[in-house]
Amino acid sequence: ATGLMSGKRGVIMGVANNRSIAWGIAKAIHTQGAEIAFTYQGDALKKRVEPLAAELGGVLAGHCDVSDEASIDAVFENIEKMWGKIDFVVHAIGFSDKDELTGRYVDTSPDNFSKTMQISVYSFTSVARRAEKLMTEGGSLLTLTYYGAEKVMPNYNVMGVAKAALEASVKYLAVDLGPKNIRVNAISAGPIKTLAASGIGDFRYILKWNEYNAPLRRTVTIEDVGDVGLYMLSDLSRSVTGEVHHADSGYHVIGMKAVDAPDI
Ligand code: NAD
Repeated sequence: ATGLMSGKRGVIMGVANNRSIAWGIAKAIHTQGAEIAFTYQGDALKKRVEPLAAELGGVLAGHCDVSDEASIDAVFENIEKMWGKIDFVVHAIGFSDKDELTGRYVDTSPDNFSKTMQISVYSFTSVARRAEKLMTEGGSLLTLTYYGAEKVMPNYNVMGVAKAALEASVKYLAVDLGPKNIRVNAISAGPIKTLAASGIGDFRYILKWNEYNAPLRRTVTIEDVGDVGLYMLSDLSRSVTGEVHHADSGYHVIGMKAVDAPDI
C-alpha cells in the first residue's frame, strides 16, 4: 500500500456517533491506510462506536472516561499489549455543563469550571504523557479547538476559556515532546452540528452566521476537518508542531465583511 498513513497505527478518542469530528478524521486516515484503535466513553457509546470501528477494520481499545486517570491507564495498557508502539493519537473530547453554555460567563460555577478544565484541557496532557511512552519512533498528537478560545463567542463561555488553555497546552507539549520527534497540534474547526455542539446555546444561529460571513461562504463538514486531520497525522506535516490550524472556511480572518460583499 502507498497510502499517506500506511504502516501507521494509532488511537482515536472522542467518537460518539457518525457525526463526530473524530469520525471524520477516522474516515480520512483510513482511506490512506491507517490502523485505528477507538476508545469510547461508557457502554452506551460502545454500542455506537463498535459498528463504526468495524466499518474501518479498526479495533476497540476500551472504555475511557478521561476524568478517571485509571481508565486512561487501562486503555493505554491495552494498546501497548496489542501494538507495543503507536504513531498518532487524536483527542476529540470536550465537556461542560450545558446549563453554563448559555447566559453569562461571569456566572460560571467553580465545580463546572474545574470539570470543564479537567475533561477538556488536562485530559490532553494526560493522554500525551501515556502516548509519549508508546511513540518510540516519533508521532503526532492532535486535539480539536475552537475560535471561542481567541475571541468571545456567544454562550461558549467557560468552554472558550478551556480552549484557550488547551491551545496553550499544545505549545507547551510541543516543546516538551519535540526532541522525541513527537509533534503536537490542534485543528481549530468551524462550527459543526454534533452532539457536543447541540449543548451550546443558539448554535443554529452561530452556524448561519458563519455560513454568511466566512470567506468561503459555507460551514465546514467533518470530512473537511478529517482531511486536515490527515495532513496533521501524516508525514506531510512533519515540520509542523505547536500549531493551531484553522479549518473554518477562513472565518477567523474576518474583522468585518465589506458592506457590498455579495450574497448577504
Ligand atoms: P461529539 O459529541 O461527537 O464528541 C465529543 C466527545 O467527547 C464524545 O465522544 C464524548 O464521549 C467525549 N467525551 C466527553 N466527556 C468525556 C470524558 N469524560 N471522557 C471521555 N470522553 C469524553 O462532538 P464533536 O463536536 O465532534 O467534539 C469533538 C471535539 O471537537 C471537542 O473537543 C469539541 O470541543 C471540538 N470542536 C467542536 C466544534 C463543533 O462545532 N462541533 C468546533 C470546534 C471544536
